[in-house]
Amino acid sequence: MPTNILVLRIGEKFEDYRLQVIDNRFYFMEPQLNAHNKAEFPPMHTAEHILNGTMVKMFGCPRSRNAHIERKKSKADYELAAAPTEEQIREIERRVNEQIARNLDVTIEFMTRDEAAALVDLSKLPADASETLRIVRIGDYDNCACIGAHVKNTSEIGTFRILTHDFADGRWRMRFKLENCTYVE
Ligand SMILES: [Zn+2]
Repeated sequence: MPTNILVLRIGEKFEDYRLQVIDNRFYFMEPQLNAHNKAEFPPMHTAEHILNGTMVKMFGCPRSRNAHIERKKSKADYELAAAPTEEQIREIERRVNEQIARNLDVTIEFMTRDEAAALVDLSKLPADASETLRIVRIGDYDNCACIGAHVKNTSEIGTFRILTHDFADGRWRMRFKLENCTYVE
């Protein structure tokens, strides 16, 4: 719902909000919240976006619905019919690093749900989600509705490494880290 009193939550910035005039009054349009991402380490969380985009492109699976992002080591689960081969796993790593090495700008755009539907999968959005969504774009590679903190450019991420992985009951769990990350807080 639009509000005319703005109380920022931890991790939010004023510029996350968009002003709109309704009946001659200003309202702050609330971005779509994705609460669990808000305090995550930005380079790791941005790498997760690229990883999700890569998994969707390679396997046609949904983005990870269960990821745990930490500074030193993160993990993400993907719904897959079969375990990826070692060759495919190296290919995931190669593609993620390929995008990181393109020095892509990470940009934020606010748009209506209808506008966003053409760019991102909104099937996970809760029914009471706000009309205005915050879309995070990683160059021309990935778009995702997200309120989290991201790096400004993929050059800050470093090198993405898949550490371990296992597969059970249609769930592939993988753990990853970043090497030579240059992000400065
Ligand atoms: Zn995000």
